[in-house]
Amino acid sequence: MKDLTHYIDGARVPGQSGRFSDVYNPATGEVQARCPLASKEEFDDAVQIAAKAQPAWCATNPQKRARVMMEFVRLLNRDMDKLAETLSSEHGKTFPDAKGDVQRGLEVVEYCIGAPQLLKGEFTDSAGPGIDMYSMRQPLGVTGGITPFNFPAMIPMWMFAPALACGNAFILKPSERDPSVPIMLAELLEEAGLPKGLLQVVNGDKEAVDAMIDNDTVQSIGFVGSTPIAEYIYGRGCSNGKRVQCFGGAKNHMIVMPDADMDQAADALIGAGYGAAGERCMAISVAVPVGDETADKLIEKLVPRIEKLKVGPYTAGDDVDYGPVVTAAAKEKILGLIESGVEQGAELVVDGRDFKLQGYEDGFFVGPHLFDKVTPDMDIYRQEIFGPVLSTVRAKSYEEALGLAMDHEMGNGTAIFTRDGDAARDFANRINIGMVGVNVPIPVPLAYHTFGGWKKSAFGDLNQHGPDAFKFYTRTKTVTARWPSGIKEGGEFNFKAMD
Ligand code: NAD
Repeated sequence: MKDLTHYIDGARVPGQSGRFSDVYNPATGEVQARCPLASKEEFDDAVQIAAKAQPAWCATNPQKRARVMMEFVRLLNRDMDKLAETLSSEHGKTFPDAKGDVQRGLEVVEYCIGAPQLLKGEFTDSAGPGIDMYSMRQPLGVTGGITPFNFPAMIPMWMFAPALACGNAFILKPSERDPSVPIMLAELLEEAGLPKGLLQVVNGDKEAVDAMIDNDTVQSIGFVGSTPIAEYIYGRGCSNGKRVQCFGGAKNHMIVMPDADMDQAADALIGAGYGAAGERCMAISVAVPVGDETADKLIEKLVPRIEKLKVGPYTAGDDVDYGPVVTAAAKEKILGLIESGVEQGAELVVDGRDFKLQGYEDGFFVGPHLFDKVTPDMDIYRQEIFGPVLSTVRAKSYEEALGLAMDHEMGNGTAIFTRDGDAARDFANRINIGMVGVNVPIPVPLAYHTFGGWKKSAFGDLNQHGPDAFKFYTRTKTVTARWPSGIKEGGEFNFKAMD
């Protein structure tokens, strides 16, 4: 078993606090490493290092900063397999899915190569007589981010790439469950030319997070994770006067209209409901077929597809659809919610509770589950399960289906499957959810758009990546300038009294 480290001032540094948390191989259930949990003092020391490094980086012209990002993209592609392998071994997701995790982060780095263009300010010539007005976007200084376990490459890159491209220093507090990839990313960025001290990785738990929130030098915090923690960090961070954006949990509904292509809808639900063992904030966890006939047809199409799903370790290669969940505690929580669904009267159409994988009996595997006749008062409907469990809520009409998605407290993503452009347009217009798919089950916006939910899925007013990130990681300064008339009046040849 190995002890992992922090990444401070350009080097892997062992933890000093004496506190650790276990990092598992979720496929076998074995502890494979210990992750150090930083003390407040360790975190505060990293902030001082960042604060020293940042002014020179801020003074480096944006084109040079962009070139570092360009080289970082090349190195990410070079090391793609190594990164994905490490990611799978700690997270449990399949190898192709782990590559996707790196890839969707890399695309935001590519977007950040446009920093010189994106950071251009505004200029008004002759705003008044002889007066010009211009605004510039300047970096905040030392910025920080706290990320979840489910995308250990993508989400850190969504934060630190724009933060650094804007001229900030960034301190990352990644998930303590899969902390190895973030350190590899920091090393690659330095190989790409980033001066040391600008991207540091401080591992930890609540103590490190609180140290970030309470440190006066840290100017902004980005958080992605569960809603209760998002609310906590947003409240405490804002009351400390920081710029804060927090993205929380989800309960994404997919409306299936009677005119939808049922094979297409069923295929979409399989990937969106069970991919990555349901551990995606954009996973579809609720299917809402409109009308009993639609529901019966959909269930009939879903069951054989679910029964064919291949669950296994990432080492089994292409032969696996999804892997284990991240910890034994996550597995226990998922199975507990499944029991509550049965007790509260939902119909368990596909029951994966007895799932066992030969040779991996201690792994955190959860078989696929499908519930029918779920109602909005049930715990499996109200809570985020974050496992391979799809709930079906039958709606009598389009309006009822729309109302269900609108009334749920979460508002990350949603989708409608239909052949009717009018229904799709109405849905996209009226729904109070941040990301909407039309015949697309996981509508994750690409890097040059922005990503963010509504309601209890996000706190703060700017989204992640795209143009919003360049606003979040900079502040505007506006200069109004008037120059006294100067030498252009003509030369002075006579010696004048100073009156
Ligand atoms: P989590 O909230 O348990 O942890 C997220 C981060 O917060 C981790 O770095 C963790 O160390 C830290 N943390 C945990 N408890 C804390 C506490 N009491 N005080 C301070 N910090 C604490 O989330 P997770 O289990 O790692 O990730 C899964 C959750 O993230 C799901 O709810 C999922 O929907 C959500 N998520 C949301 C998005 C989005 O963009 N909205 C994206 C990915 C994941």
